[in-house]
Amino acid sequence: MVDSSRVVAEATSGDIAALNRPFLVIPLGSTEQHGPHLPLGTDSIVAQALAQGLVDEHPHCMLGPSVDIGASGEHEGFAGTLSIGTPMLAAFLQEIVRSARPSFSGVIFVSGHGGNRDALSLVDATAREEGDQVLCFFPRIEGGDAHAGRSETSLILALRPDLVRSDRAEAGSVKAIGELIGEIRDSGVASVSENGVLGDPTGAFADEGSVFVEAMVRQLCELVEERF
Ligand SMILES: [Zn+2]
Repeated sequence: MVDSSRVVAEATSGDIAALNRPFLVIPLGSTEQHGPHLPLGTDSIVAQALAQGLVDEHPHCMLGPSVDIGASGEHEGFAGTLSIGTPMLAAFLQEIVRSARPSFSGVIFVSGHGGNRDALSLVDATAREEGDQVLCFFPRIEGGDAHAGRSETSLILALRPDLVRSDRAEAGSVKAIGELIGEIRDSGVASVSENGVLGDPTGAFADEGSVFVEAMVRQLCELVEERF
């Protein structure tokens, strides 16, 4: 658990001033379908866990409010998916960076959703132009599958096992994401996978998810140490 004085929403303005321009860490997730067995907030749960892991390790980082609606247009057609699209997400995040400028040394965006990548590239480019320090992190899982498959199921089994409907878990399209990405971009996930899964959750287990979380927190900490 992160100390309240290091969580923006729980700290006072004075606590933040006393830290002398800490880095603001924003977990960036999504609200999108994750197959028949995982919650729509899967990416947000992962982003929050990684951001919290970073703040636990680094006393000069503060945990900011999370952004839980991103760019998820490719999941349109599955009930519950909410998306604001890339231009709106980029504009929203850019304003967070500008607004953080007087109080924080920079902003670290920890994204749990690959679809937020284009928006974060725009944010990064604007930050360079305007002289802000911004770091955008996308975790990698060696050999992991794309969406609501084994990797994400193991992660949620580790982080929020109460939200995994294991009895409903089933494989979706198991083709390599490289083969599917063109069609997903053109016609959405529904056109390549009826149940919304890209991968196969079979064999997922909590300990594997914990190992993934640890490895991704390490990637994030290393990136932050390299950059700042
Ligand atoms: Zn996901």
